[in-house]
Amino acid sequence: MNDRPTLSRRQLLALAAPLASPLFVRHARAADVPRFPLGVASGHPRADRVVLWTRLIGDDLPEQVPVQWELAEDENFQRMAARGTETAEAAWAHSVHAEPAGLAPARGYWYRFTALGQRSMVGRTRTAPAPDAATTLRYSIASCQRWDHGHYAAWAHMAQQPLDLVLFLGDYIYEYASPPDAVRRHVGPKIRTLAQYRERYAQYKSDPALQAAHAAFPWLLVWDDHEVENDYANDRSPTLAGAQMLALRAAAYQAAWEHQPYPKAWRPRGPDMRIYDRYDWGRLARIHAIDDRQYRDPEACLPAGRTGGSTTAKAADCAELRDARRTLLGSAQEAWLAEGWDRERRWNLLAQQTLMARASSLPVTPGDPATGRYWTDGWDGYAPARRRLLASAVEAKAANLVVLGGDVHAHYVADLKLDFDDAKAPVVASEFCGSSISSHGWAQSKAEELRGLNPHLHYARADQRGYVQFTLDERRLEADVMVVAQPDDPASAVGVGARFVVEAGRPGPQSA
Ligand code: FE
Ligand code: CA
Repeated sequence: MNDRPTLSRRQLLALAAPLASPLFVRHARAADVPRFPLGVASGHPRADRVVLWTRLIGDDLPEQVPVQWELAEDENFQRMAARGTETAEAAWAHSVHAEPAGLAPARGYWYRFTALGQRSMVGRTRTAPAPDAATTLRYSIASCQRWDHGHYAAWAHMAQQPLDLVLFLGDYIYEYASPPDAVRRHVGPKIRTLAQYRERYAQYKSDPALQAAHAAFPWLLVWDDHEVENDYANDRSPTLAGAQMLALRAAAYQAAWEHQPYPKAWRPRGPDMRIYDRYDWGRLARIHAIDDRQYRDPEACLPAGRTGGSTTAKAADCAELRDARRTLLGSAQEAWLAEGWDRERRWNLLAQQTLMARASSLPVTPGDPATGRYWTDGWDGYAPARRRLLASAVEAKAANLVVLGGDVHAHYVADLKLDFDDAKAPVVASEFCGSSISSHGWAQSKAEELRGLNPHLHYARADQRGYVQFTLDERRLEADVMVVAQPDDPASAVGVGARFVVEAGRPGPQSA
């Protein structure tokens, strides 16, 4: 198979074909080059505002294109709530970030864009409830949608659910070139340039199931490593360090901002882009969305000759694992998080990237920190920082902390403790680490082994692709672990693999 450098005109026209979902509308002039083949998205909802996103496509686009946006209270755009014009600029890949404000809390809206005589598909979004409102929250967590590892039946299924919000926890794109035998191949080589990141996002966003999930709900997005490069840490990756790595990071962050419903204020400056923030959902929950990548110390005990990346290290051979000066969040973000725990709202949800629970691949002797073996890229590689984070929540009396993650391509449901060695140590928080949408996981035997060695892991399924769907109210959190039956099939069935609940006031997921 030959590598295609860009999406062809034929492919773009195919993407613009009307789809079965009522969310999709026909383009105004089907014979033209489609201007909105990447769909629409909304995100980062507040009680009075939300961000609306799209991106215009076409080699013939002028430097600047005016784009009209409309937000309505009804699907037919009869009752208009807000409208305006944004300028799509070539320098930012003709992306559009519109920010209607002054909206009513806790209500659904519909939105669409118009430019160059064409109209986008219609998206549906929702504002957050007023900060003092009694409310409920239905949300899903998702991560790791490697294009060439499978199809997006998970998104097609999720798009049909009655959700208020999607939390995307990282690995939206993968930077790799594809092997010849892939289910579907990435366009282009391993990514090194802004143009290649843009092309990769455009390819991912061409998927109709992903578009439907974006068009159905507002999303809150954080990133993990593959939006830049595997296992990167601040200014180091397995292949680059220092200024070269920061140049790659700047290109990657720019493309991320251009392709997501991120606020305008987040637009990156060079290699810096702040994405960590808090979102209040009525008086029910505070969502803390954090960045595990941009500010972290390099992974511990890197093998000689490597510029960065991860390894698996025995605690006995790696004193750095116990070095309390090292941070995963960076000191500023760590302090920001510790100051923001909410004791008024019933729940604190921590939206972050990777498994937080200890997952040693060797037996651990209680009381002996020089035992066990750990993957250095995850929280196990930063155990003192993990303990500080959990201790800060305990100290602040943060109500009902639930940690949400992805990254490891397996469903894990776990108890979180200040001392994982001590079977009698109290559970201080609950963890749901969702499996990948499509990215391949380990053999299930390895997950079983981890579960045997780490009794705080209640559920460990590396053989399942999918996502986790939650219903939250004042009394309890219900979690449905969703599993894709056939990850190679875009029309696969998706079902519930397991159910858990967390009762308010009783940390730790219980089997339901
Ligand atoms: Fe991943
Ligand atoms: Ca990852």
